[in-house]
Amino acid sequence: MIRFDHVAKRYGSQDALQNLNFELASGDFAFLTGHSGAGKSTLLKLVMMIERPTRGQVFVQNQNLNRLGNRHIPLIRRQVGVVFQNHQLLFDRSVFENVALPLYIAGMRGREVGRRVRASLDKVGLLAKEKSSPMTLSGGEQQRVGIARAVVNKPPVLLADEPTGNLDPELSAEIMNLFFEFNQVGVTVLIATHDISLIRTMSMRVLGLADGQLVYDGLLEDAPRSK
Ligand code: ADP
Ligand code: ADP
Repeated sequence: MIRFDHVAKRYGSQDALQNLNFELASGDFAFLTGHSGAGKSTLLKLVMMIERPTRGQVFVQNQNLNRLGNRHIPLIRRQVGVVFQNHQLLFDRSVFENVALPLYIAGMRGREVGRRVRASLDKVGLLAKEKSSPMTLSGGEQQRVGIARAVVNKPPVLLADEPTGNLDPELSAEIMNLFFEFNQVGVTVLIATHDISLIRTMSMRVLGLADGQLVYDGLLEDAPRSK
């Protein structure tokens, strides 16, 4: 789960988030929308402990992140899988090695690594590509490698920052379906996107940010169509 309790974040004199309150229960799925600069990335960074709140408290899996020191960051990172728009794949490593990276960082070695990496690649339909370089893959395939890497240690929470930003509508729908599948097995999913046309096709909870404030929390089909 993820809970924000009166959270504010300032960068210098810039308010990035103000008095943010919401909760995603375990197994929930939501989109995070808002204009560029609305605070989406900042919100995700607070969940990942890349940034700390200026005020208020952030809870992840019932842990108050304010109470955790920097040495606990790896613990949180193992519970929060992250998918980025530009994949952040290592092009000089194979698909297998890219997906294995979080396991190596967590100290896992040996046969268990191969087992987990292949289970993860299988879920995104890329088992046949484990030896390939990510460079030889299409944009959609690269994004699926990014997703396999994000879920390889089975995090209970999955975040994505504009995961379909570079993809056409058909591939975007495929990627979204993967997130639904992980959600179906109990993973809490939060996806930041400004692709309103995509999320209009899905009747899912939407958290709307504007100028650092939560201005909408509900199903998009109920939301005003303008703007
Ligand atoms: P979004 O992801 O919705 O585009 P961000 O969270 O990146 O929004 O940014 C929210 C606000 O915080 C913006 O005004 C942005 O310029 C500002 N901001 C983000 N990161 C920093 C930073 N490291 N230093 C200063 N200002 C920042
Ligand atoms: P194993 O039990 O051998 O590790 P899998 O790795 O295939 O088998 O995962 C077992 C189950 O856990 C699958 O149904 C899978 O979908 C589910 N699961 C739960 N959480 C996650 C997650 N964060 N990422 C991937 N799979 C998950």
